[in-house]
Amino acid sequence: MTGRWPLHPPPGEGEALTSWLSRLAEVYGFSAEELIRHNLGPPGGFGLPEDHTSALDLTPPAGVLPTLAARTGVPLDQLRHMTVAGQAPWLLDTLDPEPVPGAAFDTYVHQNSVLLTAKERPRRQVPGWRAWLPTSTKHGALRRACPTCQSTAAAGTFGFTLISQLPLTLSCPHHGCHLDPAFGGLGAFVAWEKQDTGARAAPAAVVAMDDAPTRPCAPAR
Ligand SMILES: [Zn+2]
Repeated sequence: MTGRWPLHPPPGEGEALTSWLSRLAEVYGFSAEELIRHNLGPPGGFGLPEDHTSALDLTPPAGVLPTLAARTGVPLDQLRHMTVAGQAPWLLDTLDPEPVPGAAFDTYVHQNSVLLTAKERPRRQVPGWRAWLPTSTKHGALRRACPTCQSTAAAGTFGFTLISQLPLTLSCPHHGCHLDPAFGGLGAFVAWEKQDTGARAAPAAVVAMDDAPTRPCAPAR
């Protein structure tokens, strides 16, 4: 198939690319891997690496996003914002290799320091460091979600947000609940890591830091 897919549920607000792909695939009774490898790109696929699960939310291979835009009608800019690469240069300066080893860490930690003078700041070399991303490929992205979002979403609409997969916030921006660890594969929610997981209100200081003042956290009925 090369044209528009007949069914294409829209991405949720802030949803991660793999989460949306997982929901898209489910509509057709496919796994996300089947959708990507056999129904998205040219014959033979896009040459996704074996560890494409994390690559897709980080920076998808060239051609993936334009093709998804053509298949679903979702604007390319919106799809880019569903990946970490689409957050550069705001969340992190760039995903490209550093021009000088250790430059990213040095810039991020010291750029706006007002507590220590330039002479007092300890120097530290951390080659290959990237803000908010795991330093080792052994450690993938976080899998966290809001119990209230998960329990109140209509069938087939719940997804992981991109920001909740990064160690950047602690609470849900809609409900002010703690984000709790979950199991999930290629963006699909499977189960909570702890069986007794339920909605818990985040402390006011956390909610203020995360700027999530909309509604108080309350367990779903
Ligand atoms: Zn929520």
